Amino acid sequence: MSETLNPFAIAQAQFDRAADHLDLDPGLRAVLRTPRRALIVSIPVKMDDGRVVVFEGYRVQHNIARGPAKGGIRYHPNVSLDEVRALASWMTWKCATVNIPYGGGKGGVICDPKKMSLGELERMTRRYTAEISIIIGPDRDIPAPDVYTNAQTMAWVMDTYSMTEGRTILGVVTGKPLAIGGSEGRGEATGRGVAVTSLEALAALGVSAEGARVVVQGYGNAGSVASRLLHERGLKVIGASDSTGAIVARGGLDPAALEKHKTQTGSVKGFPGTEPIGADDLLALECEVLVPAALENAITKEMAPRVRARVVAEAANGPTTPGADAVFKERGIMVIPDILCNAGGVTVSYFEWVQGLQAFFWDEAEVNSNLDRIMKRAFAEVHKVSTERRLDMRTAAYVLAVDRVAQATKIRGLWP
Ligand code: NAD
Repeated sequence: MSETLNPFAIAQAQFDRAADHLDLDPGLRAVLRTPRRALIVSIPVKMDDGRVVVFEGYRVQHNIARGPAKGGIRYHPNVSLDEVRALASWMTWKCATVNIPYGGGKGGVICDPKKMSLGELERMTRRYTAEISIIIGPDRDIPAPDVYTNAQTMAWVMDTYSMTEGRTILGVVTGKPLAIGGSEGRGEATGRGVAVTSLEALAALGVSAEGARVVVQGYGNAGSVASRLLHERGLKVIGASDSTGAIVARGGLDPAALEKHKTQTGSVKGFPGTEPIGADDLLALECEVLVPAALENAITKEMAPRVRARVVAEAANGPTTPGADAVFKERGIMVIPDILCNAGGVTVSYFEWVQGLQAFFWDEAEVNSNLDRIMKRAFAEVHKVSTERRLDMRTAAYVLAVDRVAQATKIRGLWP
């Protein structure tokens, strides 16, 4: 039987497993299982040729028991309400895993940003912001970048929200450009967290980092930064891919040069010293660390038996299906779950929000050392639960996170 690839069904299945281990009572379980709010908006945009196109967008707040909702905005043709609901709930568990005072939210617009001009993207972003402004705000719900949105997008969100309020409100989004209250280190934060947790995982398994082979699917922001930092720590990046193709270099490649090549040509393909390889064959390369850093469901139960990695470091959200998870568990492959592995981004987003609220900004060294400390602490806590309760790392992270959110929800009580 083929497994479900509906991201929200997967998110709920992951939650259910943790809830079973925690023996949560049915009422609390029902509360935590479902998003608290979901807003669907129509976004009319005047295109460059004069036509008006109406895009559909979403903003979902899954849980706000521990603080304001937090989560990115995704622009992609395949965005759906279920995807955004899944991503919002993953944000709740992610913020709780690294123990920062946020709940979970997410937004998305169904569009193809690659086919839109900068002006069209700006008008769409501003109208989307206006439509969701009834539920976002610095102490309510704080968006950030996700797939195909960036610092410029966040600047438009901040400006639009500020214009309607009549004053500059830095704390309404994170991932802003440095010139308007962004944080040092934010651009690299997700990749840095992936690198830190990958190194912790290798150490926990007793595998030497020196010369350890790394394969990265999705050479975008998270994937390329993780590659560069792991390379700097003595690991060897032997394969990489993006939406246009995949490459392999068994002797290792220079991640910074590949980043430059991709910026210049728009693709990892044709990078000197590498050979092309099929997308699935890339995932099947023998390596110590496999980093899925593209989109959901990259590794299915059909693909998982072919993976030959010691550690799967989930830079992307939801890249491993539950069927693949079961295969990895059986084969003793350690998965650093997304809600831990890629939490560096939201952690530095939290630092950015704190800095904006205080109007007091830190230097990059301070940001990075605070990030490293939080990521190492979170890895150690999840690994401890995993060892003590004999759980795989994903279930352990969920047990830790769901327990924290459940406690907050229970202590606050049910209103009215
Ligand atoms: P990005 O757009 O910079 O990079 C995504 C990369 O994946 C691109 O290079 C794209 O070409 C590639 N890609 C798309 N489809 C692919 C496919 N089928 N096969 C191989 N490559 C493919 O996005 P990003 O910010 O690096 O985000 C990547 C993932 O990390 C997403 O799942 C996102 O939700 C997650 N994430 C990102 C952050 C962040 O701060 N950037 C934080 C947490 C999680």
